Amino acid sequence: MPGVFDRLAGQADVVAELTAAASAARARVPGQGWHEADARMVHAWLFTGPPGSGRSVAAMCFAAALQCEHPEIVGCGECRSCHTVLAGTHADVHLLAPQGVNILLKDVKETIHRAASRPSTGRWQIVVVEEADRLTEQSGNALLKVVEEPPSRTVFLLCSPTTDPMDIMVTLRSRSRNVALRQPDAAAVEAALLAGGGIDPERARWAAAVSSGHIGRARWLATDEATRERRDVVLELPMVMHNPGRAFPLADRLVSAAEQEALARNTPNDEREVEELRTAMGVGGTGKGAVAAGRGAAGAVKELEKAQKSRRTRSTRDSLDLALVDLAGFYRDALMAGLGVADIAPVHPDKAEESARLGGHYPPASVLGAIEAIQECRAAIEVNVKPKFAVSAMVGAIREALG
Ligand SMILES: [Zn+2]
Repeated sequence: MPGVFDRLAGQADVVAELTAAASAARARVPGQGWHEADARMVHAWLFTGPPGSGRSVAAMCFAAALQCEHPEIVGCGECRSCHTVLAGTHADVHLLAPQGVNILLKDVKETIHRAASRPSTGRWQIVVVEEADRLTEQSGNALLKVVEEPPSRTVFLLCSPTTDPMDIMVTLRSRSRNVALRQPDAAAVEAALLAGGGIDPERARWAAAVSSGHIGRARWLATDEATRERRDVVLELPMVMHNPGRAFPLADRLVSAAEQEALARNTPNDEREVEELRTAMGVGGTGKGAVAAGRGAAGAVKELEKAQKSRRTRSTRDSLDLALVDLAGFYRDALMAGLGVADIAPVHPDKAEESARLGGHYPPASVLGAIEAIQECRAAIEVNVKPKFAVSAMVGAIREALG
């Protein structure tokens, strides 16, 4: 039967578990939560999995299934509740996301407060924490308090890369049921792309094959010309590495492309947020009240713009990291080809000829050195080294490794 869980590619076990839980949640005590004796459903869930595996998609689909109004299908994907949950506009589904780098204490408090009231239209109050690994100690503790003693009709859905204490507080982890998503294979990614419709089948197959199980990445590659161009720039880099006059400028282009990508992805949100804030604060009217509101709003807008700037910085780093992963993938393919390993699928099947040529030209130890240089660059960017410097140092290190 079709439904919201179609969006989860290659995660049959997870879908079965979440469907069972959402069904259990339907058999509830009037005015209360579900029958506590039914172990299939709990108040707090932790979705983990590698980047692109669909953690937050799983959380949102589960939220839709819990609120779904269809009498038989759990998460029909068609009713008003399913629609509004998936669009992010359901009144009883609250999204908690980082403002800039971290999830702020004041946002956690505000969300908890809103989620403590009775559901207004849905069955439950649901709090989705998209990047629970971005909770600070303070905001994490505030959340923990309510997760430990949740209101009977409130459900918490946390998303984090892993259950590692580096990513998620041990106490929050121990209070939640873990749902581990796996990296989907290319066939599953392709199916997910095609499920949404509007994507050419051949392009869907290509995007699935070159995105290493990262569905979001595959979707961008399938639908966005600029993303495809940026990938071409990255994969051209190894071809010109021997020529410093071409390699360094191309590396610069890579960085500015990542910045542009971050800008393009965030600008519509940024503008909408500012507009909403202005409207909420009554800017645009006339008279004394409006002038005073205007002054207050200016400060609030400034604060918002600061948060947006740090979100863009993070976005740039994320997009650059994906590019570096692509680059490392190319050298990995070259290494495998050089070693004569034939039974491992290449990361970039469409560039197999080029990577094989490179792998035949350089000794494996040199290619390995190039991969290490890329990993070092990723680590440097993660600890806030300026991307332009880090990437340019990486090109120098790769050139040295290849001799
Ligand atoms: Zn529905």
